[in-house]
Amino acid sequence: MKSSRQTTLRSQVTVTGIGVHSGSPVSVTIGPADINSGFVFTRADREVAAIAASVIATDFATVLGDHQGPFVSTAEHVLAALRGMGVDNATIEVDGPEVPIMDGSAAPFVDAIDQAGIVQQNAARRFIEVLKPVQVELGESFGELRPYAGGFRAELEIDFANSPIGRQAYAFDLDADSFRRDISRARTFGYMGDVTKLWSAGYALGASLENSVVFDETRVLNTEGLRYADECVRHKVLDVVGDLALAGLPLIGLYRSVRGGHKLNHAVLTALMADRHAWRVVEATEPVLERPVIARRARGHADVAGGMVAVAFAPDVS
Ligand SMILES: [Zn+2]
Repeated sequence: MKSSRQTTLRSQVTVTGIGVHSGSPVSVTIGPADINSGFVFTRADREVAAIAASVIATDFATVLGDHQGPFVSTAEHVLAALRGMGVDNATIEVDGPEVPIMDGSAAPFVDAIDQAGIVQQNAARRFIEVLKPVQVELGESFGELRPYAGGFRAELEIDFANSPIGRQAYAFDLDADSFRRDISRARTFGYMGDVTKLWSAGYALGASLENSVVFDETRVLNTEGLRYADECVRHKVLDVVGDLALAGLPLIGLYRSVRGGHKLNHAVLTALMADRHAWRVVEATEPVLERPVIARRARGHADVAGGMVAVAFAPDVS
């Protein structure tokens, strides 16, 4: 749904699985939230906003927390699904310290969003528009955000030399249909040797071939093989959509990275936010229809606008 109005979920929906780090059962319930609330994780009477300032670790996954310590781990895939499907505001209630890993992709969360339905709210959608380039180098990796008028675009390159993953590149213009089709099903991945090391250190206890693509030196170990020939770089795009959701608003800009990961994504976003001249908040004005909007049924759920809608932007002067 490409909307000039903010959106939220019509109803609550619960997804249950296991935590990749603990190996224990966990549930996440996503549901409606008020205008301008963004994405907020809750558990019992504690809540943590899904914003860059809440990031307290990026080693294996994106971990959010506050002065009381860590609150929720593996936040990025559910955030990717919400941002990828064009949801602006949602509560994300977790009953444990991590979001369930499910199949290692964002597809189960996209299915949950379909089940809940997306509704428009009575407020203009707001965006963060990138006004000038910010660049970060971290060891062998490089990332940048640049101005880009066409919405949000990601151009990623990964290079795992001497491995079956090899070099992969992918360019992605974010809209809900492309996210669902090309990105949401890409699973997280790793090497058997690394997983074994994590297991013996007491981490990634829930990691298995059920929720990761696992490689050895020469091949994919999953009997079902890959979902896309370039599934690894597509999963990196998924992680970028989730990690950059922590901007708090959808971005208008181009994100480029080479050999990136959660740490780099967070560093680039933090560098952008730190430079007050590098971005501004803009509001969508009423959409201009480029061609007639044809209502169609998407996977048996609510009617969504199928035509292209060009959203115009104006500075937020509030
Ligand atoms: Zn991931």
